[in-house]
Amino acid sequence: MRRTRFGTVLVVLLVVVLVVSACGRSSSPSTGRVGKGKLLVAASIPPIADFVREVGGDRVDVLLMVPPGASPHTYEPTPSQMRQLAQARLLFINGVGLEFWAEKAADAAGPSLQVVVLSKGMEILGKTAHGGGNPHIWLSPVRAQEYVKRIRDALIAADPDGADEYRANADAYLKQLQGLDAEIRTAVKTFKSREMVTFHASWAYFIHDYGLHQAAVLETTPGKEPSAAEIARIVEIIRKTHAPAVFAEPQFSPRAAQVIADEAGVPVLTLDPLGGLPPRETYIKLMRWNLAQLKRGLGGEK
Ligand SMILES: [Zn+2]
Repeated sequence: MRRTRFGTVLVVLLVVVLVVSACGRSSSPSTGRVGKGKLLVAASIPPIADFVREVGGDRVDVLLMVPPGASPHTYEPTPSQMRQLAQARLLFINGVGLEFWAEKAADAAGPSLQVVVLSKGMEILGKTAHGGGNPHIWLSPVRAQEYVKRIRDALIAADPDGADEYRANADAYLKQLQGLDAEIRTAVKTFKSREMVTFHASWAYFIHDYGLHQAAVLETTPGKEPSAAEIARIVEIIRKTHAPAVFAEPQFSPRAAQVIADEAGVPVLTLDPLGGLPPRETYIKLMRWNLAQLKRGLGGEK
């Protein structure tokens, strides 16, 4: 008896599995529609994935390419991520060379995947002659609002039935970003120092938009440790500018930052440009967490 019932349950389960996988397979890659008719959309880094979730709401499923904890400057998508990407309708990337893998990935995915470069036509800081520049635009909540508007417009173009929903979601989220911007402006006014010594140039847009000053960058090339001469030069800058802290990043080893901070007699704090995991799983939580670090480091009110 029990065995028969178990057998029946097993058959029912198998049927369910078969039906579900058949549905999965029948969803055409050209429509990018997955289970329950959702639009499958890929995003390169956690903050962009968060923007897409906020604007897309229940209508989209988001595939994140560079996972939390990985550095986008070095991470390349896995073959399994590439296969999933071929099912997606849109791929949102930051651009300015951050997603060095995107072109190859888009070619492999085929013409059904539309790549949206969020920074296209926006002001690029630290521009180089050969078309490079500083890619970390999302770290300014002012400029992040432009990303959100572009995501809204791309989702509406790909899925016009959801236009009202995308517009409402984007409006609500843009209000939250405006609130975050106001919060940062108020806090920055209380900072005793504006001198920022950071791990790499990720905070350039934030520094520019909130009236801070980049005193020094520890690692000019991501993945490359500073030399003894560079360390000595940065220690000298910290002493001269009275920069009160060195800001490291969780995606990189804090060793170089610690050596410099010890030498200069200042603390090492962390700024996270990417987040993606609790307690920094959303962009707004990430930026509030970073703001708290800045207050600690630059002597602002707690
Ligand atoms: Zn970076």
